[in-house]
Amino acid sequence: MDYFAISALINAVTSAVLGVLVFLRQSKSRVYLMFSLFALAVAVWSTFYYFWRTANDSDAALLFVRLFMAAAVFIPFFYFHFVTLFVGSEKRHIASVVAGYVLAIVFSALSFSSLFIEGVVQKGTFGYWPEPGSLFLPFLIAWLFYAVYATTLLFQTYLYASGRKKTQLLLLLLGMSFGYIGGATNYFLWYDIPIPPYGNILVAMYVVMATYAIVRHHLFELKVIIAELIVTGFWILSLLRVAVSSSHTELIINTLFLALTIPLGIFLIRNVQREVEARERVEQLAKKLRTANKRLKRLDEMKSEFVSVASHQLRSPLTSIRGYSSMLLEGSFGKIPKKARKALERVSLSSAFMGRMVEDYLNVSRIEAGKLEYSMTTFNIIDTVSNVVDMFRPKARQAGLSFQFRKKTTRALMVHADKGKVRQIVQNMIDNAIKYTPKGSITVTACGQDNQVVIAVKDSGIGMSQETIKALFKKFYRADNANNVNVNGTGLGLYVAYTMANDMGGALRATSDGEGEGSTFTFTLPLTNTKRK
Ligand code: ADP
Repeated sequence: MDYFAISALINAVTSAVLGVLVFLRQSKSRVYLMFSLFALAVAVWSTFYYFWRTANDSDAALLFVRLFMAAAVFIPFFYFHFVTLFVGSEKRHIASVVAGYVLAIVFSALSFSSLFIEGVVQKGTFGYWPEPGSLFLPFLIAWLFYAVYATTLLFQTYLYASGRKKTQLLLLLLGMSFGYIGGATNYFLWYDIPIPPYGNILVAMYVVMATYAIVRHHLFELKVIIAELIVTGFWILSLLRVAVSSSHTELIINTLFLALTIPLGIFLIRNVQREVEARERVEQLAKKLRTANKRLKRLDEMKSEFVSVASHQLRSPLTSIRGYSSMLLEGSFGKIPKKARKALERVSLSSAFMGRMVEDYLNVSRIEAGKLEYSMTTFNIIDTVSNVVDMFRPKARQAGLSFQFRKKTTRALMVHADKGKVRQIVQNMIDNAIKYTPKGSITVTACGQDNQVVIAVKDSGIGMSQETIKALFKKFYRADNANNVNVNGTGLGLYVAYTMANDMGGALRATSDGEGEGSTFTFTLPLTNTKRK
């Protein structure tokens, strides 16, 4: 066997292995399918090339030349199609792809006529070198054109690519250039240019480069490749056992064994593939999630900034609306007709509600910016709660609710907290109890228990489901049944109250036996010391 036969054999084996591996690995993707078709065309060409080099008579040599050329003509066109898919421009080049296939089929058929290959003659050390027919030159021109076209496309994409794709493109470009230059050395002797096909072995370079690109730059898939290699090894061994069987029984057993290893092997490879694909998908998803999270955080910050600025701007005009409407109602600008008084009362109520809303928004944006400040003092919380309860008495009476305050202590309950914020929390609890209790009673209790002060607001109102209780203290949460009795709500009051209670070392909790069964809200704070009143 000479160098040319050996190089053809090496090309055939490496390309066949690569083609089959790539095909098994990603048969769903057309890029990989085209690559494996390309590799298989190289393998078939090289196989017949080997038989041609080792042929003993001119008839056999001519047949093998025709066969290897019938396969070789597909190589540049498969390659071109693969490149258009790889760089994502198949649609733009579809006419050239189709034209390539037409040419490939025509030339492949022509390989068996003297128009393409006239015969074989002695040339130097080659006993049966092929003689070109008149249509061989057009083929060479098309071959060169498609090879250069594809390489240019790869190069253009390489220039603008980045990261892993850029490295893959570079490896592919290098491998393919080596392969093509090596492969081209086969065609000089056809036209009596004294360059023998020494470069043939370079064809295997593209296999090396492509494998390197897969292994080095797609690390996860190494697992798949190893599984494929082991399985292929098994198949070859089983096939060999069939071939060397010495008896019928042995033949049957070995054939059965082979038949068993094939589906088992495919099953194994598919499983490893699926696992690898799933991992890659998870990786990609995690990456997307990270960027989405970053963007969301930024958006959230922007939203908080916006809310903060807008609320500040709203505060001063609101204050003057509230101030003037209450002055008008008090008669500071003269007597107000009855009709106008009603309208004014509405203005006053709505602007008060709007004021609370603006305060809530401001508080939320302060909480989010970490700028909620507390001015802590030590005071008797019983006084504060009594004060708030008194403030709500008229409102409860107006709503037709029975409203009681039960002090379960005769002592002062001293806490160290922000008085204004404690007031706000208790106000929110009582205000909600009135809002969400269409009829019945509200009881506020205050007591000292285990070094804590416990303020509870119990109502006989609409109650809450377990899901509502879980979500209650989140921003903007409003239960479905809340809208039935009170449509004017932001879902922010409890979120703000909850945060404040926690920040001051206390807690805010809610309980209910279910919808329609009333609710109890409990606010606790640590006691500093207790003294007799
Ligand atoms: P808002 O009252 O403006 O909707 P809050 O944060 O104060 O906002 O309350 C959040 C939600 O909690 C209400 O929409 C309601 O669904 C529920 N809720 C609060 N207090 C009570 C209560 N006493 N009884 C029943 N549901 C309540």
